[in-house]
Amino acid sequence: MFSNSDRFKESFLKRLESMCGKGFEETTKRDQYLTLGNMVREYISSKWIETNELYRSENKKQVYYLSIEFLLGRLLVQNLLNLGIKDVVEEGLNDLDIDLGDIEECESDPALGNGGLGRLAACFLDSLATLNLPGHGYGIRYKHGLFDQKIVDGYQVELPEQWLRHGNVWEVRKPDEAAEILFWGKIETSYDNNELSFKHVGAEKVLAVPYDMPVVGYHVDTVNTLRLWNAEPAAFAPNQDILSYKRDTEAITDFLYPDDTHDEGKILRLKQQYFLVSSSLQSIIASYKKENSNIRELHHSVAIHINDTHPALAVPELMRLLMDIEGLTWDEAWKVTTNTLSYTNHTILSEALEKWPIYLFKPLMPRIYMIIEEINERFCAELWNKYPGDWHKIEHMAIIAHDLVKMAHLAIVGSNSINGVAKIHSDILKHREMKSFYDIYPTKFNNKTNGITHRRWLLKANPGLTNLIKNTIGEDFVHQPDKLIDLKRHIYHPDLKEQFANVKRKRKEILAKRIAEKNGILVDIDSIFDVQVKRMHAYKRQLLNVLHIIYLYNRLKEDVNYTIQPRTFIFGAKASPTYYYAKKIIKLIHSLADKVNNDPRVSKIIKVVFMENYRVSLAEDIFPAADVSEQISTASKEASGTGNMKFMMNGALTVGTLDGANIEIMEEVGKDNIFTFGLTAQEVLNYEENGRYRSMEYYHHDLRIRQVVDQLTNGFFSEDEGEFESIKDSLLVQNDQYFVLRDFASYIDIQEKVGVAYQQRDKWLEKALINISHSGFFSSDRTIQQYADDIWKIDPMGVRV
Ligand SMILES: *Cc1c(COP(=O)(O)O)cnc(C)c1O
Repeated sequence: MFSNSDRFKESFLKRLESMCGKGFEETTKRDQYLTLGNMVREYISSKWIETNELYRSENKKQVYYLSIEFLLGRLLVQNLLNLGIKDVVEEGLNDLDIDLGDIEECESDPALGNGGLGRLAACFLDSLATLNLPGHGYGIRYKHGLFDQKIVDGYQVELPEQWLRHGNVWEVRKPDEAAEILFWGKIETSYDNNELSFKHVGAEKVLAVPYDMPVVGYHVDTVNTLRLWNAEPAAFAPNQDILSYKRDTEAITDFLYPDDTHDEGKILRLKQQYFLVSSSLQSIIASYKKENSNIRELHHSVAIHINDTHPALAVPELMRLLMDIEGLTWDEAWKVTTNTLSYTNHTILSEALEKWPIYLFKPLMPRIYMIIEEINERFCAELWNKYPGDWHKIEHMAIIAHDLVKMAHLAIVGSNSINGVAKIHSDILKHREMKSFYDIYPTKFNNKTNGITHRRWLLKANPGLTNLIKNTIGEDFVHQPDKLIDLKRHIYHPDLKEQFANVKRKRKEILAKRIAEKNGILVDIDSIFDVQVKRMHAYKRQLLNVLHIIYLYNRLKEDVNYTIQPRTFIFGAKASPTYYYAKKIIKLIHSLADKVNNDPRVSKIIKVVFMENYRVSLAEDIFPAADVSEQISTASKEASGTGNMKFMMNGALTVGTLDGANIEIMEEVGKDNIFTFGLTAQEVLNYEENGRYRSMEYYHHDLRIRQVVDQLTNGFFSEDEGEFESIKDSLLVQNDQYFVLRDFASYIDIQEKVGVAYQQRDKWLEKALINISHSGFFSSDRTIQQYADDIWKIDPMGVRV
């Protein structure tokens, strides 16, 4: 079917006609997409079956990665690339006058995630399959992924995302492997034959139906599985209100992260978490029991990973299944549970650490709550032995305290490994945030610096750069991203520099075209493309970037002789629908863009662009076109970041704080090839502890700061003067929690250096190439190999078809 382009063309045309019932000339792009997608899935299926059979027959240890988010991005072209048939397909389609890129545009961009955490899970799946590691993802098949963002009048408007509207060619529904999930009801405890038993009565049953999607490794025969669960009504008692039952049930998998500011939303989210965990664990145990008889040895064959605390209910749920269903004693079950589970922490922001009120938790999951209480009591007793009389410490470390269930504590106590996602983040966990746990479990804590799959973010997103690298150092880096370092020997060759400059320029042209189409703004290809794309959040400090632009505008207005290297400031960001401040910053960026882009003189030097609906497919067009990567979070707040790695791999230079993986990027490329500024994490944490920061002092003592901050409310923007008052208040009245004004001067200085450095064209190109050559370390293949060796203890399996 895909052996050469003629064979492909022949089967494609045949299939197109039989599937769509029309002649080739009448078919639409969508017909063509669906036909090609189905052909590819069919081609995958024999490898998929082989892989599953191999896993069954070899019966070696497998890992299951539980995540409430998988931010996959489009799959068609990535699958073609990984299968090694992209060229054949592209050639065949070209003969028919079809552009693969146009067909790809028909594929929806599955956004079953918010940002970095979900994208990491997607990169990990790609690396697991490519490294021939037996590892599968378990998640939720949200009917609506992350909302589509529209900008109306400078304000964000959310529309429901519809990735399933035209079906999903990659999924296979497996109704025979459905699991039953119980909510509400009561637990009846009985004691007979010397044994306690627990019966869940009056529960509401929900059916979890799996949809499996293939995860294709790159140029290998391994095809792993991403299993996404769909909630459906199960058999129910006849006197129930059927309609409301049906509605409540289906609501569980309707939306990614429903609004959790109200209790109804909270219950739904908690339901999602238990739904994911219970269905996944039942499925994992069922498949284990097919090949193994002794459930007490589950951890020899199975590792289960908890991605952030959302799946932390895996701890009590595994205990429940092992005790209530499999008949193990508490101690036996605890041994298996803790030896099976491992956990990744993704944040130290206290508002992001999940805590559930008991009054919501207990009625919804009565048996799970009982088990957590027991885990907590045993844990507190242990603490009492270690720290007799230290009530304060015990209260602080308890899993249940002050009528709240603390999910991070549950995950730590119930796992054999707890990892952070960048060196500095893991250090902060060990020595500050989770110090008391590190004191009692020093060997559980470890670091696994995040990574990204170079197959999507280099090979797929930037074929021009990929070819240039291949022509320069050969193809080894494709399989061993560390080999990108070989590029370093060539960076002084003028040819390479020129070719790289051409590749970058071409991608800037493509992005500029898109900006012209979507935003109606013409941008200068010779300007610096200075990009900040990521979720909108106060700690990521898009505001610092904005204030710098206002400052530049002021200087350009005040002094007609002030010259700088022209720049295009590009933003992309979604704000959580209920996050008032974040939405204000989006409006502010638009007001600033109006002001700057409409000034006849200033707009020749700087421009501001906000790209709507930031998502994986848009990201694939942005990273290759960037010159400067903005990674300016308040030090200590960004656990790792992964956008920073995608920029680096595509030859953009980082302007960044010493935060998250920026630090490791600096260690890789050297201080001369990155622009760092601002407070260190230690300085930020010290300020937070001693309370000695006064943003007002910076406002009063730095004229530049006073001017830009005043401009938020003095009629400088055409909006009414109250529009941005809350932003000004966050800086002055609320004492600038994220140290924007504290880092302002240092940011202005480094940005000036960036402008000057860009004008030393040759040197800049060398720095960009040095960044690319050191980006191999940030491949998720390295990250996943470390998880496999140190945490999961799994080995690769060769698949032969
Ligand atoms: C990589 C990525 C992110 C994470 O970006 P950070 O800068 O690390 O926050 C978020 N969204 C999308 C679509 C991404 O591709």
